[in-house]
Amino acid sequence: MLARRPEGWSIKLESFDLARVAEESVRSFRNAYHREITFFAEGSFWQTTDASKLKQLLFILLDNARKYSEAVITVRVGGDEQAHWITVEDQGIGIPKDELDKVFDRFYRLDPARTRGSGEGGYGLGLALAKDIAEAIDVRIQLDSIVDQGTTASLIFRKKQNGE
Ligand code: ATP
Repeated sequence: MLARRPEGWSIKLESFDLARVAEESVRSFRNAYHREITFFAEGSFWQTTDASKLKQLLFILLDNARKYSEAVITVRVGGDEQAHWITVEDQGIGIPKDELDKVFDRFYRLDPARTRGSGEGGYGLGLALAKDIAEAIDVRIQLDSIVDQGTTASLIFRKKQNGE
């Protein structure tokens, strides 16, 4: 069963290859923002989920990677017996360990002085929305980050076990 779904959201489940949808998202983002993005997928990773919600999630993560880093962004699709995943990796300013949970709160932004390099301010809403979308389509978001080295945002799709 899906954990939580904000009122008015409709979820359309279909089975598709995560690598195909992630690559489409990367292509449109690259065209829109002219940022260098490297894409790797070692095979096909079939999953039943909502493709358009997944694209919204990827857009939020790519947009953060764009705003808070300057070098190439890397997107990877992978999987094992338990799960499939998509990671968005940047080499930017990073997020301190004790702030990693807080960045999912509405309107929470890190010290604006840290983001001066990006020349862009946001409202602190992207990751709060990403968390809602992820809950609605049963995906886990994980952030791993090292200050001044970069951030990896992962979308983790647990494979259903028999009987689930
Ligand atoms: P918007 O409302 O336009 O999405 P935002 O980027 O401020 O703006 P969030 O996406 O919710 O909002 O991010 C919250 C905060 O987390 C950001 O202000 C930034 O400080 C930090 N953050 C998010 N992603 C990254 C990243 N990839 N690298 C460094 N800091 C990040």
